[in-house]
Amino acid sequence: EKTIGAQFDETVARFPDQLALIVRHQGVRWTYAELAERVDALARGLLSAGLEPGDRIGIWAPNCAEWTLMQFATAKAGLILVNINPAYRTAELEYALNKVSCAALVLAPSHKTSDYVAMLRELAPELAGAAPGALYAARLPALRLAATLGDASHAGCLPFAALAAGGDATLPDALTPADAVNIQFTSGTTGFPKGATLSHRNILNNGQFVGRGIKLQPGERVCIPVPLYHCFGMVMGNLACIVHGATMVYPAEAFDPLAVLEAVEAEGCAALYGVPTMFIAALNHPEFDRFDLRSLRTGIMAGSPCPIAVMEEVIARMHMREVTIAYGMTETSPVSFQSETDDPLDLRVSTVGRIQPHLEVKLVDADSDTVARGETGELCTRGYSVMIGYWDDPARTAEAIDAEGWMHTGDLATIDEDGYCRIVGRIKDMVIRGGENIYPREIEEFLLTHDFIADAQVIGVPDDRYGEELCAWIVLRSGASLDDEGVRAHCRGRIAHFKIPRHIRFVETFPMTVTGKVQKFAMREEMIAIFA
Ligand code: ATP
Ligand code: MG
Repeated sequence: EKTIGAQFDETVARFPDQLALIVRHQGVRWTYAELAERVDALARGLLSAGLEPGDRIGIWAPNCAEWTLMQFATAKAGLILVNINPAYRTAELEYALNKVSCAALVLAPSHKTSDYVAMLRELAPELAGAAPGALYAARLPALRLAATLGDASHAGCLPFAALAAGGDATLPDALTPADAVNIQFTSGTTGFPKGATLSHRNILNNGQFVGRGIKLQPGERVCIPVPLYHCFGMVMGNLACIVHGATMVYPAEAFDPLAVLEAVEAEGCAALYGVPTMFIAALNHPEFDRFDLRSLRTGIMAGSPCPIAVMEEVIARMHMREVTIAYGMTETSPVSFQSETDDPLDLRVSTVGRIQPHLEVKLVDADSDTVARGETGELCTRGYSVMIGYWDDPARTAEAIDAEGWMHTGDLATIDEDGYCRIVGRIKDMVIRGGENIYPREIEEFLLTHDFIADAQVIGVPDDRYGEELCAWIVLRSGASLDDEGVRAHCRGRIAHFKIPRHIRFVETFPMTVTGKVQKFAMREEMIAIFA
């Protein structure tokens, strides 16, 4: 067992000349030795600027090379990196910074429609007159330092280049794997995001097992279009690459299907990551056929239910014959289940595989009693990957992690005789129609078998007669046409009558988190507003 810094140095020593990081939109191509030099300088720069081990420092930026420098520099400096959602606006930023008492913030000056500096100034007008490093803002009482990416200085903010240039401070040598290294916010799929505090032990081991799950080899290139601010990017992406000596490839600042296809072809990526909606967007891109994706061998689909039809397409059309599915949550570092490249194909597309090494699992009913093998229950996991807790929130931590250390995931699952796990759905998304429990996922899988349907999401909406009724939102393939009656005709005789969606809506897209997850609560709110 080691710290992230120790693992990083070990890999650098083994593969100094191998490419570590390719950032296509910035033209960055750094070897491990080049990355290490920058990481060490930034780690010293952060401590020289007055930050102390244990301090929280936020990063508020879309995917970029500096994000990665911050990830490894803070780990080496003993600071706790706080991932701030690049889509946040002023009020959310204030909440996140104060929730974890951030002493410092590194931010991109602006990105697309977000003027980050302007938003920070709104919260901290004192910035304008502050000497760098001596910031005090009434609404951000813990904040002492702000720095903007790049060489230019913005009122009261240091240029990041000044931190990246290094300093005299020496790096702490007493860090341990149990130390907190990161506060990651959950996606906010079901409501307000929660800040999970994670240790070196939590996430470094997870990166190692995730990389092993896809048999990641030194020098292989991994295309990472998922946000770095989320565990999918920073742990399953960056940390897995660092442990296994692979190359991180970022196609763009934020997900863009065309940039993904270009990056895979141009860089010869062996692996591609994404949530299901990202794969669907890439597969349905009008220029898909133009790209040669034969370098792809494997990859990971994760984050939301992974439809069998999409997995099959990824194998057939993207050549990802060794693709795997991972299941997890921010609070468990994140992955707890992952299929392996040599699992039988039918299990690899329909299950999330088996439990990771060194973790325990049980499925429980509403009374917390373990259910019989094969039955559906709430998935609970225990072991090295369970977070330290939600930062400064013992009450919510105690709701999530029980006295015996079991993390209650809020997800329903079944596990077969051989240990393969199927995720049935979130407890919160289960629909109860006239006393009948319906799992939306089952209907979504079925709808996707229709040739004209590219994506489908099913929710429960209030109904006077049955309590709840099913409502499907459908994205059609480009050029296809289909109406309500066509959808229902496809269902009739193939699924039980009570599972046929009563309400059908054709849409271009769904309300989504930055991590690419469908926010069903927002769909429900929209439908309720339409019915009212
Ligand atoms: P919040 O907790 O803020 O509402 P969130 O739960 O989506 O958001 P994450 O920690 O990013 O935040 O996601 C974890 C959840 O994602 C899991 O609890 C599960 O519901 C879902 N999930 C992850 N992987 C899979 C998968 N392979 N199949 C089905 N669901 C998955
Ligand atoms: Mg969650």
